[in-house]
Amino acid sequence: MSKQHTGTSKRQLGDMNRNDQVLIARTEEPGTDHMQKVWVLVCARRSEGGDLCGHRYGANGSDFHQRKCPRCQDGMPGLSIEGLV
Ligand SMILES: [Zn+2]
Repeated sequence: MSKQHTGTSKRQLGDMNRNDQVLIARTEEPGTDHMQKVWVLVCARRSEGGDLCGHRYGANGSDFHQRKCPRCQDGMPGLSIEGLV
């Protein structure tokens, strides 16, 4: 039996990280980090007015747990998801 220690394999679609970023797709597109694939996240944070941000962007799978929204949380610019979703 082989053991996997990627740290990202247990993540499922719909998982939300501590910054309200939700995983909506895992693509086969290479990310910018070593051995990483592009994951598509959507921001589920609401403004004080109650509006959902809803910003969609790409991120390396290894960054998911700490990712912040590029639009409303001053996160790093997302990876391109052009043609992926
Ligand atoms: Zn946002």
